Amino acid sequence: MTNEELWSRALTEIELAVSRANFVTWFKDTRILNFAEGTVTVGVPNGFSKEWLENKFHKFILKSLRTQAPEIRAINYSIATPSTTAAAKIKFKKEPPPLQEEQLEFKDFYVDPRTNLNPKYTLDTFIVGSFNELAHAAAQAVIKNLGRVYNPLFIYGGVGLGKTHLLQAIGNAVCKENPGKKVNYITSEKFSNELVSSLQNNYVHNFKEKYREFDLLIVDDVQFFAGKTKTQEEFFYTFNALYEAGKQVVFSSDRSPKSISDIGERLQSRMEAGVIIDISEPEYESRLAILKAKILEKKIDLPETTIELMALLIHKNIRELEGALNTINIQSKYQNRVLTQDEVKIILSKNIKPKNAVTPTQIIKTVAEFYDIQEKAIYEHTRKTEVVKPRQVAMYLIREDLKGSYPFIGQKFGGMDHTTAIHAYEKILRELKSDAKLEDELKSIRNKYQNLQK
Ligand code: ADP
Ligand code: MG
Repeated sequence: MTNEELWSRALTEIELAVSRANFVTWFKDTRILNFAEGTVTVGVPNGFSKEWLENKFHKFILKSLRTQAPEIRAINYSIATPSTTAAAKIKFKKEPPPLQEEQLEFKDFYVDPRTNLNPKYTLDTFIVGSFNELAHAAAQAVIKNLGRVYNPLFIYGGVGLGKTHLLQAIGNAVCKENPGKKVNYITSEKFSNELVSSLQNNYVHNFKEKYREFDLLIVDDVQFFAGKTKTQEEFFYTFNALYEAGKQVVFSSDRSPKSISDIGERLQSRMEAGVIIDISEPEYESRLAILKAKILEKKIDLPETTIELMALLIHKNIRELEGALNTINIQSKYQNRVLTQDEVKIILSKNIKPKNAVTPTQIIKTVAEFYDIQEKAIYEHTRKTEVVKPRQVAMYLIREDLKGSYPFIGQKFGGMDHTTAIHAYEKILRELKSDAKLEDELKSIRNKYQNLQK
């Protein structure tokens, strides 16, 4: 067996063990450079691939190689220019037929009416990095052990970080693996609307029955249950019925259950009873991996340096990465050439405003909304506890993120003394050290106003 054959066979096996997106991203342009005395040297195109293969895929690679050649004991990874031989490229060169492309576009808006799932969201297209690997692992565990582990599964994180994608992927995987299971995806808002109209039209009984039948119920964006007492109550009963029957429930939210105000203790403690996992913002390597996968998926031609530039400049979320990629793709198709670095920079700078473009007023408004109080109350010199904390948080954020001076902050809050601003800033700073919930809240708030700017 030549090295090329050995690698090609190992890849066939690895491909089965990792998602398509990861496979293509990390195994493209790899090959065996050398195989001697039980040690295989795998050539990789760059440092990122090297790191990922070493840290994440080493076990798979070793196992797959050993299946072919049991005498293999060790693997080294070494950066090398990709081979130009045809054999090394075969697996990745296959162009899908045009028909498939049309189907993919159709999939973009197709939603299965029985499950409300969109088939485009799958685990195969979900890139895993350190920012979301726990959430991904939990999703896999839930799929394999429906209702038996991690029940309920609660996933939270800022906008555009892949919550809906992952939740829907769980649903799609369960449908695929167990066609007999009844799966349903719904947003908390839709659930609430359906409940209200069933009450108005006197078929609340059917509503109840419908939701108690599911083997897997996925409820997206549960932060919108806040303040809706009747919906919460009904959902609480639905949840209990499902839970007691050993059915699986999966939630998402933009914040942790503890940080959802006005959700009712009973429901909150139910949501916390399983496992709670957050998805954070992707770090550079993950952003790069996501871009690369999407580029392959959409068959866009972009030089490596441009992709790296994009990963560097766009740091908030994945939706934004996708948006920027589409803009650049359309521009370069329109111009019918590969765009230069400077052109890409200009396009990106038009789309992404610098972080400090947010105004103090926007921060205050966001904070008021988050804590569900009237914006104008924050400016009044009231000492009501429900206002004092949000005001302190807003002061802290203006100081921290906008570098506002204390006198300016005092002035902004209805002419308060600058010592009030200092006190607020220091208090929040102190509390952040020991209060994970507060930290969480600030994260959600920042996420909100940073996304306001678009
Ligand atoms: P959220 O529900 O957290 O606001 P979405 O799930 O809607 O975010 O994700 C926004 C976009 O980014 C979607 O188009 C989704 O497919 C894509 N996306 C998010 N996370 C990933 C990921 N890990 N891999 C690939 N695409 C992702
Ligand atoms: Mg979502």
